[in-house]
Amino acid sequence: MDQKQITAAVIGIGTELMRGKMDDTNATFLCRWLLERGIRVTVRANVGDTLEDIGAAFKRAAACDLVIATGGLGPTDDDLTREALAAHLGRPLVFDEALWQSIEALFLKRWKTVPESNKRQALTMAGAEALPNRFGTAPGMWCEADGRYFVLLPGPPPENQPMVELALREKLVQSGLLAGELALRVIRCYGIGESALADMLQPIAFATEVGYYFSQAGYVELHFSRFDNGDGAGRAAVEADEKKARALLAAAGVFFTGNEELAKLLLDELVARGHSIAFAESITGGAMAAELVKNPGASQALAGGIVAYSNKMKQTLLDVSPETISDSGAVSEETVREMTFGLRRATGASVCVSVSGIAGPDGGSEAKPVGLTHCGFLIGERYWHKMETFVGGRSRIIARTITFAFGEVLQALAHNDAKGSSGNASGATQKDVRKA
Ligand code: ATP
Ligand code: MG
Repeated sequence: MDQKQITAAVIGIGTELMRGKMDDTNATFLCRWLLERGIRVTVRANVGDTLEDIGAAFKRAAACDLVIATGGLGPTDDDLTREALAAHLGRPLVFDEALWQSIEALFLKRWKTVPESNKRQALTMAGAEALPNRFGTAPGMWCEADGRYFVLLPGPPPENQPMVELALREKLVQSGLLAGELALRVIRCYGIGESALADMLQPIAFATEVGYYFSQAGYVELHFSRFDNGDGAGRAAVEADEKKARALLAAAGVFFTGNEELAKLLLDELVARGHSIAFAESITGGAMAAELVKNPGASQALAGGIVAYSNKMKQTLLDVSPETISDSGAVSEETVREMTFGLRRATGASVCVSVSGIAGPDGGSEAKPVGLTHCGFLIGERYWHKMETFVGGRSRIIARTITFAFGEVLQALAHNDAKGSSGNASGATQKDVRKA
């Protein structure tokens, strides 16, 4: 029998959140943390620092097994979270002398006196337990009420996150709330949109929860997830669904990988095949090389790059002829071809990649719209060219150019070897069906 999945509410308390002064990063952290541990967050809310609003948020969370509130545990009058929980559960707040002494000691270590207002932080609710705060004065709170659990955590993330790891985790384990995990498999699909992907996978009856998440860098993450209570059934189900999806995607010629950065996969592939790579970058301004350099061991494959943004640099550093630029333009098939061969002469790298495009927002025309990008690829003696028009703002166009170029090289390298087989170790497949 499946153990029931635990549900949780995450409530960020603070008037500054409601005024848009800051984002609720505590909730982002907690939602991820709980998800990974198989707890389903069904309510996520923000409320200001009033007894009424906090009380209403607790009511909204009435169906959840676990209610976690962050913020409003400080010493000032506008910190009301403790009072609101006590009122919600109909329990009194009591002054905890031992807790006060530990807060006092903490203060006296750093300052000469303790403000009277800090006494509020030693208020605890009848039947509740304090969660120690290693990095601040406000203790957290844990309590059980009618088989449900309530947790109060301090607002500042440097206090909140260690408290989750060091104190809350233990309470959850003791209470049997961490009795499973979320089994999750991710496939990254390139050159295809969410809706086209959903249509393509429609014939498969999946046994797990399927999610489609678009990344700004120009790919769609396909998530298969299911709660696994430790018996392995959830894990087996997501693996089976992933396998079915991979087979269908491969048959349809979609380029996909596992849940790994493309730059890392490319680097591994280059190193495994003994290649060196160089970039001639116009539109990306050096970002392609920088993306590869983020990975340790980049020196094993990266020869270098030339940022040739101006026409003059394209001519002097990459030998592009002035006539090519005046006849065809800097963003053209002809120019990237000369950039690519110039790059080979300059670097001797076995894999040479050139990009030239219009990142916008200005500079587009009807014939050459913003987003138009030409890419030249030279691997060994094989040269080819691709042209794409990416949509989005400037940074997204640049990011998608990098994703596209890296994907193109990765597929070409895998293709060299795979010849007729349907993929390589990273799950890359060959046929080019880019629509982006
Ligand atoms: P303190 O004892 O520091 O007053 P507190 O528990 O009362 O802690 P708040 O007063 O609500 O917490 O918030 C203190 C600070 O913590 C905020 O100014 C903000 O910088 C940060 N903070 C609070 N809530 C959040 C949140 N949900 N996400 C990110 N940061 C937060
Ligand atoms: Mg405060």
